[in-house]
Amino acid sequence: MIQISERVASLSPSATLAMSQKSAQLRASGVDVINMSVGEPDFDTPAHIKEAAKRAIDENYSRYTPVAGYLSLREAVSAKLRSENGLEFDPSRIVVGNGAKQELCNVVLATVNPGDEVLIPVPAWVSYVEMVKLAGGVPVLVHAGLETDFKISPEQLEAAVTPRTRLLMLNSPSNPTGSIYTREELEAFAEVLRRYPDVLVLSDEIYEHISFAGPVASIARCGGMSDRVVVVNGVSKAYAMTGWRIGYMAGPEPVAKAVTKLQGQYTSGASSIAQKAAEAAYTGSQECVEEMREAFRRRRDLIVELASDIPGWMVNRPDGAFYLFPDVSALIGREIGGRRIETSGDYVMYLLEVANVATVDGAAFCAPGYIRLSYATSDDNIREAMRRIREATLR
Ligand code: PMP
Ligand code: GLU
Repeated sequence: MIQISERVASLSPSATLAMSQKSAQLRASGVDVINMSVGEPDFDTPAHIKEAAKRAIDENYSRYTPVAGYLSLREAVSAKLRSENGLEFDPSRIVVGNGAKQELCNVVLATVNPGDEVLIPVPAWVSYVEMVKLAGGVPVLVHAGLETDFKISPEQLEAAVTPRTRLLMLNSPSNPTGSIYTREELEAFAEVLRRYPDVLVLSDEIYEHISFAGPVASIARCGGMSDRVVVVNGVSKAYAMTGWRIGYMAGPEPVAKAVTKLQGQYTSGASSIAQKAAEAAYTGSQECVEEMREAFRRRRDLIVELASDIPGWMVNRPDGAFYLFPDVSALIGREIGGRRIETSGDYVMYLLEVANVATVDGAAFCAPGYIRLSYATSDDNIREAMRRIREATLR
């Protein structure tokens, strides 16, 4: 009999990727599904970045790369962190890997021992809890709802810290809520954290460039935090490069060394071609980032307006990322279209099967009673999806 390890058997599959696959299958079978489940820009990778990749092939960037990534790319990341974020990270403290996802998981595996507690403000992206479980850590969820714009307070943070707390996973702008912590709010967290020197902060800044509220603050710049924060970011969202799989961590030297050791044993350095493309993304014109942000801002305005008109939904106005996270708890316990809706998951299935719109159950983000919609799709798709959802919900 084939054994599957408990480590993997106890993991939940990624709900975002699962829903996206389900929607792709339905589409392949001829159903006209609008996919608002997975979160990825619908734009093509900008031309100058693709050119850099083609050049890299012709110039024979075809060998194993250094485990931590090409020095030239780490220098470009270091320069980006200095000029855009005011952060000083020598390239020796930067590790490039296969997407921000791998670097997040690497940092968790490199810093969390079995039994250690990891604070996760929720709603949180589907993979955080699973990464902590993989490390044998204990996820400690700190809840926030629509009424506080999905932001936790410094008091909640302090109340959740125990002598076993080793890590805080922050994500601003947030997936799934689009909320952004202001510099003042992050300073208030830093003030709490200064009292607990054993807690490291993992700051996932992958949606940094998709902000409609100006430049996004990093907790790494807050007082006393510079040696205690690992920043994770990458090219997936800002440069429409989800398939290229390049992300990085920048943090204290011992963490960078541990992550390099780990990566050296199980994946090696990331793709040579994709790294050269990422280097072009960081060193080339940033106009493309601006253009995509403006498109997302327009779609945010559109979806908020249309979603506010759907019965049973409560929405806020997210400041960043490309997600809307409506509270649909008013629909729970009701009968819609002849079907009893007992959970937000039932509603998501109803929307998929009846309205042919794919969304994700908030439960996957530790927030049952909500659903997530990615508006990284055309204005026409957004209009049609909202029309279908409204109509199906009124049945
Ligand atoms: N963090 C968050 C919050 C995300 O939404 C994503 C998107 N998948 C990632 C990290 C990972 O991004 P990637 O691995 O594509 O760089
Ligand atoms: N982060 C995206 C999402 O939440 C991509 C899918 C994933 O990696 O989970 O939909």
